[in-house]
Amino acid sequence: MRPVRELLPLPRLHVDRLGASGARRLGGGAVLAARLCATGRRHGDTAALARSREWIDAILATQQSDGFFGPRSLRTSLNGGPDFWPFLPLLQALRTHEEFTHDERVVPFLVRFLRFMNAQGPGAFDTSWISYRWGDGLDIAVWLYRRTGEPFLLELAAKMHTYGADWTGATPTRHNVNIAQGFREPAQYGQIAGSDELTRATYRAYDGVMHAYGQFPGGGMAGDENYRPGFGDPRQGFETCGIVEFMASHELLTRITGDPVWADRCEDLAFNMLPASLDPRGRSIHYITSANSVDLDNRTKTQGQFQNGFAMQAFHPGVDQYRCCPHNYGMGWPYFTEELWLSSPDGGLAAAMYAPSRVRAQVAGGTTVTVTEDTGYPSPRPSPSPCPPRARCASRCGCACPDGAGGPNCASTDASRARPTVPPGPRWTAPGTTATW
Ligand SMILES: [Zn+2]
Repeated sequence: MRPVRELLPLPRLHVDRLGASGARRLGGGAVLAARLCATGRRHGDTAALARSREWIDAILATQQSDGFFGPRSLRTSLNGGPDFWPFLPLLQALRTHEEFTHDERVVPFLVRFLRFMNAQGPGAFDTSWISYRWGDGLDIAVWLYRRTGEPFLLELAAKMHTYGADWTGATPTRHNVNIAQGFREPAQYGQIAGSDELTRATYRAYDGVMHAYGQFPGGGMAGDENYRPGFGDPRQGFETCGIVEFMASHELLTRITGDPVWADRCEDLAFNMLPASLDPRGRSIHYITSANSVDLDNRTKTQGQFQNGFAMQAFHPGVDQYRCCPHNYGMGWPYFTEELWLSSPDGGLAAAMYAPSRVRAQVAGGTTVTVTEDTGYPSPRPSPSPCPPRARCASRCGCACPDGAGGPNCASTDASRARPTVPPGPRWTAPGTTATW
């Protein structure tokens, strides 16, 4: 693999000088900075880590006395109030940075900003793109609550759920990325509310959309940009944004529910659509990737094949030509890598998804273990090694555990295979602070 510093040369950052249009750039750049941090740490790339730190320092330095940070224009850019959508991927980036570096500035920084968020009225929660994407906000609020126990974070989570779009009934938006991010929101709030019904609502939200628009090899949906009746076959496309956000949702749901079907779905995207959407160096992308496409030309179609009025299947430099996806496509592989190994409820490790990897973590009793995974998965390459750690059995290939599906070392259970009536399974979590992914 090439040094990560070659993936994207980051510009020097002057956060306060960014205008409204710079807000998304802030989010995208900072997310990439955090991904640089993640990847740089994994590869010992000190230059990438230094560049990431430069961005993080510049962002943290902008926080004001009431907790707001970043471009000042965002204070009033949504109907006269703050627009929180550009902040959400950035908050996740800061979390990634904290998990890698244990930077003591981050948790109090986030507490101050989420207090600011909690002080806003319903209009900051129930309109525009942010209303569909509070799942990202819940992810941060729950993470921060587990770190701090601050009661206001539960109040804030309730506002996100109450004022945000309702994902428990009819799909509230036809936009592919909104769906890829938003459908998991009920299950996320279900962690706080203790509601299995909310978890089941997420299963229904996924099934409802995918039944109509997911008849599409590779795990994606026909959404270019919105899904449209009559345009549901594999000649349509799925945004690169949608691919990585769908993967992130499936990874999160693997942890929340313990149901291996979500890991299956994530791998389907990771091993099919994501590699097809990016060049191997992460510099160029398709806006959309179609399962069935014979031509990736740079001509706008004339028969209404795709919703947008530009050439959506061309292969272009991501930042220069396609301004949408660069804000999050960089998180696809780092997030996937982070979620390969999870902590099981009994204090052990679970191999949630498969790829060549090495994990070091503390297991029950405080013992530090290191597991090195050498695999050609998903290509057929029988492994002679047994699986004393828990291992997910991909539904498409059967159980590889020596004691069979449902055995004592198998993370897949009969109950978890019985979709869609699956009950919430064991809650897995990301490995503890000694994890080195
Ligand atoms: Zn996009």
